[in-house]
Amino acid sequence: MKKRYQETLEEIAKELEGVEKQGEVPSYIPELAKVDPSKFGMYLKTLEGEEYEIGDSREKFSIQSISKVLSLSMAISLIGNEVWKRVGVEPSGNPFNSIVQLEYEHGIPRNPFINAGAIVVADILVSQLQDPEAEFLEYVRGLSKNADINYNHSVSKSEKEVGYMNASLAYMMKEKGNLNNSVERVLDFYYLQCSLEMTCAELAEAFRDFGDTGDPFGHGPFTLTSSEARRVNALMLTCGFYDESGEFAFEVGLPGKSGVGGAIVALYPEKYCVSVWSPPLNKKGNSEKGMKALELLTTKIEGSIF
Ligand code: GLU
Repeated sequence: MKKRYQETLEEIAKELEGVEKQGEVPSYIPELAKVDPSKFGMYLKTLEGEEYEIGDSREKFSIQSISKVLSLSMAISLIGNEVWKRVGVEPSGNPFNSIVQLEYEHGIPRNPFINAGAIVVADILVSQLQDPEAEFLEYVRGLSKNADINYNHSVSKSEKEVGYMNASLAYMMKEKGNLNNSVERVLDFYYLQCSLEMTCAELAEAFRDFGDTGDPFGHGPFTLTSSEARRVNALMLTCGFYDESGEFAFEVGLPGKSGVGGAIVALYPEKYCVSVWSPPLNKKGNSEKGMKALELLTTKIEGSIF
C-alpha cells in the first residue's frame, strides 16, 4: 500500500498540472490575494502513522473555514448538545456567507460551517473560555502535536476591515437574540481563528483523530467522545463545502472541510486523513485543484466511504 499511496499522489500532481489556472485566488480578503496561485501540496497520513506527501505539503497557509471544525469541536467539548439549540445541522444549499435563511429562521444558522453558524460557535467560545484566543490556539496546537502554529494578525486585520457581510450576519443574530457577546468581540475572535496558519501535514495530523472512532480524543480538558466525533464527521460530509457539499460527497465521498485559503482536509474513518492545498478557488469558494485532486485520490485508490 505504501508504494501505492505515494505513486498515486505523484500521478495526481502530474495529471493536474496547470488546473489551478481555471480558478481564482480570493480577492475579498486582501491579504489572501497576495498568495502565489501556483502552490500545490498534498499530504496523506494513515491511522497507523505512515506519511505520504508531494509538493508544498510543509508550507504554511491560511486555514480559514477549516478552523470552524476545530472551534465547533471545542464548543461541543464544553457544552455538549446545548450547541444544537443555537445552530442547526442541515446543509444550507446557499453560499458560505449567505444571510437569506437567517431572517426567517429566527437567527438560528442552518449549520456550524456556514459563516453565521461559525460566528455563533465563536460566541459560545468567547462566553465559555477565559482567554478564547490563547486557549483555542493551545487546543489546535495540542491536536496537531505541534507548538509552531500561530495566528496571522495581518490576515485577520485585513479581513476585519472589509468584513461587512460577517458583521451583517452577526448583527442580525444579535437582534434575534442568538449572540450573547458584543458583535465586535465575537468577530475579533472569529477572524483570528480563521487566520490560523498551518501546513498540509499539520492539518492532517489535527484531523486524524476524528477518523479514529475508538477512544475519546482532544487536548487537555477539551475532549470529544467517539459519538461526538462521528457527528462532526457527518456535518463535514453534509455541510463541509457550502453549496458544493453534495458535489463533494458525490465526487469524493469523504467527510471534509474546505477554506477560502485554498486548503481542503478530508478523512476516511479508520483509514487515513488527507489534506491538499492549492489557492485558486472555483465559483463556490472551494479549491479548484484541491477538489479535483481528492476526486482522483478516491477514484484511484477506491477509497471513498461508500
Ligand atoms: N474567514 C472567511 C470568511 O468569513 C472564511 C470563509 C471560508 O473559508 O470559506 O469569509
